Amino acid sequence: MKRWEKEGIVEITDLSLPDKKHLKKGVAIIECVQEIPCNPCVDACPFNAISMENINALPLIDYEKCVGCGKCVGVCPGLAIFVIKIIGDNALLTLPYEFVPLPEEGQIVKALDREGKEICNAVVKKLKFGKTPVVTVELPAEYAMEARNIKVV
Ligand code: SF4
Ligand code: SF4
Repeated sequence: MKRWEKEGIVEITDLSLPDKKHLKKGVAIIECVQEIPCNPCVDACPFNAISMENINALPLIDYEKCVGCGKCVGVCPGLAIFVIKIIGDNALLTLPYEFVPLPEEGQIVKALDREGKEICNAVVKKLKFGKTPVVTVELPAEYAMEARNIKVV
């Protein structure tokens, strides 16, 4: 049994990840591992980069088509979509954030891993309001594949 089935924590080995070329361009990482009837991510993508065989299937992303625009991030009810763009030694990580208070642009926050553990500092670069707010933070590139939430301190 996978860890996400027992504890709800997705592991990196559960995912189909982009290569370095795509990460430099900026692409969405979809951490949706449970087959449930859901597909707003497919409709949200203006570039048809996300597809599903049927409503119960897992979403598949075409990293060639994805431009990292982030439009899919705030529509996912499972908070399972992130965008990563690697820029030199740093990375921009865009994530859904449903807690309050919301962070402010320029604020230093703590980046948390998939288990909720603090792993590094991150700087809030952008905040997009919506039903689910979407936050973009900058953090060291080495943590880009680990950081999946933030804590406002
Ligand atoms: S980041 Fe933009 S282009 Fe990429 S899958 Fe999401 S909506 Fe489509
Ligand atoms: S919207 Fe989110 S939960 Fe629903 S299929 Fe897409 S990635 Fe999975």
